[in-house]
Amino acid sequence: MLGAPGAGKGTQAEQVARARAIPKISTGDILREAVHNGTAIGRRANDIMARGELVNDDVMIGIVRERLDQNDVRNGFILDGFPRTVIQAAALDEIVKGRDPLVVIEIVVPEDELVRRLSRRMVCEKCGETAHGAAAKIPDCQRCGGRLVQRSDDHDAVVIERLKVYNRQTQPLVEYYQTRPTFRSVNGSQASDRVASDLMAAIESAASGVAAKGVRP
Ligand code: AMP
Repeated sequence: MLGAPGAGKGTQAEQVARARAIPKISTGDILREAVHNGTAIGRRANDIMARGELVNDDVMIGIVRERLDQNDVRNGFILDGFPRTVIQAAALDEIVKGRDPLVVIEIVVPEDELVRRLSRRMVCEKCGETAHGAAAKIPDCQRCGGRLVQRSDDHDAVVIERLKVYNRQTQPLVEYYQTRPTFRSVNGSQASDRVASDLMAAIESAASGVAAKGVRP
């Protein structure tokens, strides 16, 4: 799943994962957990994340390689927040070689809308659920009752840096993937349930094109 910070990748990935009963793998969540647990990777990632920059490619590729080696991804998986650089994308192609082709969906949202969304979004301290709109205005998480807080990297200056980093390092991935028969773009400015249905349709069409033509990435 490709898209700028605030495009709705996490929320949408969660729904796809639930609908298809496959794991959602969010590299941002993995790193936040590592920071929380004070592991060696977490200690190194902490400052980089706080500045809105990207963690080193080798570290990220190692994390994803290890995760995709586990049994629960055999029937598929959804990646949220990875790849973020062309080097990571090339490594991912190598990691999934011999498996079904990757379906790549870009969620497109204009930049002014992204800034607005990021500065308003809240997350649950306890379960990590993201709250938007009306749900972000009440103090408790609707899923588990935990306290809602602003993500430390959703403050204005860091948001601007994250969008810059996205444009410079991650946006080129659209060019990397867009000629593949398994690439689709979805309009992420619509209501969330509309984005979800477009997304499901895009995944179906990309995956069935693959099945019909036997296309390899
Ligand atoms: P996210 O929750 O996806 O917005 O990620 C939060 C932060 O974690 C990013 O701003 C980066 O600092 C770091 N991060 C997450 N995924 C990656 C990745 N694939 N490559 C490099 N840094 C990452």
